[in-house]
Amino acid sequence: MKKAVFPGSFDPITLGHVDIIKRALPLFDQVVLAIGVNADKKYMFSLEERLAFLNDTFQDQPKISVTTYTGLTVDFCKQIQASYILRGLRNAMDLEFEKAIAQTNYKMSGIETLFLISSSGMAHMSSTIVRDVMRNGGDYHFMVPDPVKK
Ligand code: ADP
Repeated sequence: MKKAVFPGSFDPITLGHVDIIKRALPLFDQVVLAIGVNADKKYMFSLEERLAFLNDTFQDQPKISVTTYTGLTVDFCKQIQASYILRGLRNAMDLEFEKAIAQTNYKMSGIETLFLISSSGMAHMSSTIVRDVMRNGGDYHFMVPDPVKK
């Protein structure tokens, strides 16, 4: 069984994430959306809210499950017997950053990271920008799935 972990903060999930996740579905038997819990990081949305956004967005997708984890992503992958990490790439900056993480993860565990490049028109979306627009009262609806709009 081909199982992939899509790790992230999802603070909040954006249509950029949704694009990558939906396009990964034909490639894997199961995609585990895993929110990494980092006690030192400040989030806009609580863990419960972020979990609910993910669960509500993908409630009709039997191949997708949602969970949280602490510690190294590769340790979590081994724990649930996932052989792949899935990540999205928006631009060259993402590539440079992700390359180092993927190479380190592979050296540590032999777990491969697979990258999907954002669909055209999706690369400008980021959780950081969504949070900024939200804080300043702008219209963020075109960047997030329905559960985040409510
Ligand atoms: P992290 O805090 O680990 O960066 P994020 O929730 O911000 O987690 O992102 C998780 C993954 O989703 C990363 O691989 C990121 O590059 C990818 N991603 C985020 N936004 C987009 C987008 N608009 N298009 C493609 N990939 C994206």
